Amino acid sequence: MILTGKAALVTGSTSGIGLAIAKALAAEGAKLMINGFGDPGEIERECAELGAIHDGADMSKPDEIERMMKRCADELGGPDILVNNAGIQHVAPVEDFPPEKWDAIIAINLSAAFHTTRLAIPAMKAKGWGRIINTASAHSLVASPNKSAYVAAKHGIAGLTKTVALEAARDGVTVNCISPGYVWTPLVEQQIPDTMKSRGLTREQVMNDVLLAAQPTKRFVTPEEVAALAVFLCRDEAASITGANLSMDGGWTAA
Ligand code: NAD
Repeated sequence: MILTGKAALVTGSTSGIGLAIAKALAAEGAKLMINGFGDPGEIERECAELGAIHDGADMSKPDEIERMMKRCADELGGPDILVNNAGIQHVAPVEDFPPEKWDAIIAINLSAAFHTTRLAIPAMKAKGWGRIINTASAHSLVASPNKSAYVAAKHGIAGLTKTVALEAARDGVTVNCISPGYVWTPLVEQQIPDTMKSRGLTREQVMNDVLLAAQPTKRFVTPEEVAALAVFLCRDEAASITGANLSMDGGWTAA
C-alpha cells in the first residue's frame, strides 16, 4: 500500500471515472473524501466500502468548494492528493448553445479545479509533497463539433495544469492531466439504446461507427485503466512527471 497516511479528495466520485479512481486510491491506503451527487443510500454504501467521507459540495459554487476544502483539511488533514474529475457535458451548435449551459460547464469542468487547486496548494507546498491530477479529455487536445463549452473547458484545464506545474515544480508537488478518449461509464452505456432507436442502428454499429468513430482501437477505455494511471502518478517514481497531458485515448489524437 503506497498511499498509507495520504489524504485524497476526488471530485465527482459517485460515478464512472471518479469512482474508479477513488476505489484505486483507497486500495492503496489513502484516506478519502469523495464528492458528487447521487442516491444517498448508494453514497453511504460507497463510503462504507472505501472508508471514505462524502461531501456533497456543488462544484459550480465557489463558496461550497471553499467549505468542502476546509472540511477536508479539518477532518483528513489534506488533500495531499487532489483529483479534479467532476464534469458535465452539453451538445449543441454554438449558435444554439444555452448560455446557462456554457456557464455551468465552464464552472464545473474548469473553474472548480482552479478553486480546489488554489485552496489545496499552500499546504502541499508546506509539506513538500502533493499530487494534483486533473481528468481532462481528448477534447483538451482536439475539438469535435457541437461541444464548444466542453472543448473550451478541457483546453483550459490543460493550460491550468501546465501553469500550476511550473509554479509548484520545486515544492515536491506534481500537476498533471489525464486525457481519456471514450470511457466505458454508465453515462456512455445509457446512450446506446436511444441512439440505436433514433438512428435505426444495431448496438455494434452505434459503438463502432458513432461512439468509437474517432478511436482507432475500436474499444472503450475503462475507468480502471484511468484509475491505474492516476495511482501511478502518485508514486514517488512519478516525481518527474509534471505539467504533462497524458493521453489515454486508443490512438484518437495520434491520427
Ligand atoms: P459521470 O457522469 O459518470 O460522473 C460525473 C461525476 O461528476 C458524478 O459523480 C457526478 O455526480 C459529478 N458531478 C456532476 N456535476 C457536479 C457538480 N456540480 N458538483 C459536484 N459533482 C458533480 O461521468 P464520467 O464519464 O465518469 O466523467 C468524469 C470526468 O471524466 C469528467 O470530467 C469528464 O469530462 C471526463 N471524461 C469522460 C469521458 C467519457 O467518455 N466518459 C472521456 C473523457 C473525459
